[in-house]
Amino acid sequence: VNDPRIYGIKTKIRVVPDFPKKGIMFQDITTLLLDPKAFQDTIDLFVERYRDMNISVVAGIEARGFIFGSPIALAIGAKFVPLRKPKKLPGETIFEEYELEYGSDRLEMHVEAVNPGDRALVIDDLIATGGTLCAAMNLLERVGAEVVECACVIELPELKGRERLGGKPLCVLVEYR
Ligand code: AMP
Repeated sequence: VNDPRIYGIKTKIRVVPDFPKKGIMFQDITTLLLDPKAFQDTIDLFVERYRDMNISVVAGIEARGFIFGSPIALAIGAKFVPLRKPKKLPGETIFEEYELEYGSDRLEMHVEAVNPGDRALVIDDLIATGGTLCAAMNLLERVGAEVVECACVIELPELKGRERLGGKPLCVLVEYR
């Protein structure tokens, strides 16, 4: 995405060295959320892209994917499905395990929340190695949804996460090198 609003968004993201451990440059989006104009611009850019793409489900990855995914889902008239960390969902779930830039984890999804033929947008705040988005796509595809695209506010292109998405399109607003 190339848009003049992106400069303002980028300046509001705080970079915290060595958090949560040494060597990680943590991209902190909480400072973006403190600026209603920059936060609104972030949501608007995604809504403008996705409103005419027949998206029926926005799947947000816990926890920061919820912050961006919920307002986008409401604005484009799609259902919102949370992809959650282990043991948070009370209904019948399926899970996928994945590696993080710092550790490993798993994502769970309610099976009845998504139907075959659903057109899905997967959203998170950031793509690093791509493992998280890959797990999210697998969950949706296992229940018969079509993942139309993945979207993140930030990409760390040097970690080549995009290459793990199997050619699936990825839309990002800000690259951090
Ligand atoms: P990955 O699976 O390696 O693409 O990691 C992406 C997930 O980990 C996202 O949910 C991010 O919120 C989080 N994450 C990984 N690296 C960072 C980073 N440098 N700054 C902020 N969040 C990160």
